Amino acid sequence: MTMLKEVKSKGLYMGKLSHGADLLDEITGICSQKHVRLGRIEALGAVQHARLGYYDQKSREYDYFILDQGLEITNLVGNVSVKQGQPIVHAHITLTDSAGRAYGGHLAQGTKVFACEMVLEVFEGPTLERGYDEATGLPLWKQEE
Ligand code: ZN
Repeated sequence: MTMLKEVKSKGLYMGKLSHGADLLDEITGICSQKHVRLGRIEALGAVQHARLGYYDQKSREYDYFILDQGLEITNLVGNVSVKQGQPIVHAHITLTDSAGRAYGGHLAQGTKVFACEMVLEVFEGPTLERGYDEATGLPLWKQEE
């Protein structure tokens, strides 16, 4: 079922992440620090290596894979919402190698920043809380009646 909520932009942060940091943990940490509970993220840069997920729709489990090389972040898009009371970042990333070949997937812990420039837009609006979704097996935004 489609769910749409109205949100309003409350402000933007723009900055660079630490060399050597875990990309997902660093973004999640910034959201916690700044008390962001609703927002969106975009970023570009490079990683030293990556760990991405692919959701297998039949087994309803994430398969994770490692890309063990330096890669360009040609795109990272994500959102911030709430799961069990804490900010949770859901991001997908596209990475390219020296020949321009692209890899992509669900950003997982274990992706190490080489350099990363990020924009975080903070929204105000209703809380979007993640909870188990029967149809997909994923922790999606819960529909409030
Ligand atoms: Zn995902």
